[in-house]
Amino acid sequence: MNHLLTQIECKSKEIKVAALKELKNVCQQCRACELYKTRTCVVFSDGSPDAKIMLIGEAPGADEDATGKPFVGRAGQLLNQFLVESGIDRQKDLYICNTLKCRPPQNRVPTNEEKQACQAYLFGQISIVKPRIILLCGTTAAQSFIEQDIKISSIRGKWLNIFEHIETMAIFHPSYLLRNHSTEIGSPRWLMKNDLMNVKNKLLEISD
Ligand code: SF4
Repeated sequence: MNHLLTQIECKSKEIKVAALKELKNVCQQCRACELYKTRTCVVFSDGSPDAKIMLIGEAPGADEDATGKPFVGRAGQLLNQFLVESGIDRQKDLYICNTLKCRPPQNRVPTNEEKQACQAYLFGQISIVKPRIILLCGTTAAQSFIEQDIKISSIRGKWLNIFEHIETMAIFHPSYLLRNHSTEIGSPRWLMKNDLMNVKNKLLEISD
């Protein structure tokens, strides 16, 4: 029985990998918004296609645009630190992507038109990976799925009912935490640590 389950899981992973590869190929040719003109790389994803958690950020920055991988710059390194402290394995437990796949010049906030143009790739990733938990990382990601003018501080840390069968939480973006160094009780870094511990507990709960 275990052998059969392993075979089914492997097959399902193969299907996901193939579907994501196909979607990435389409995305790499994309010219649906003006950002294709200034990108170096399309930044599609990182992590495991089989992950139970999908983390959705805002858009690639300079380091991401240069390497083609999300969350590899200073903010990404800080995110890694928080993940390690919370016992979440970036490569095994997470599938990471962004609301936009191409870098906005000077890291400006994505426009609604750009977010709409890129939405099909993000929804494609969600439907292929089928995560059990989605983390909306930062204001742009949260506003894409909740309300356009929602403030991250008013919703972060709560389990939200946005997608069917997917537990969703908004968390601070690590670039915001780079500007807030305090780790005192109630500080943004302290809250981030608590939120990710909460996510880890949820991960353990759904993995049982
Ligand atoms: S940001 Fe998204 S919609 Fe715009 S060109 Fe890149 S992949 Fe296409």
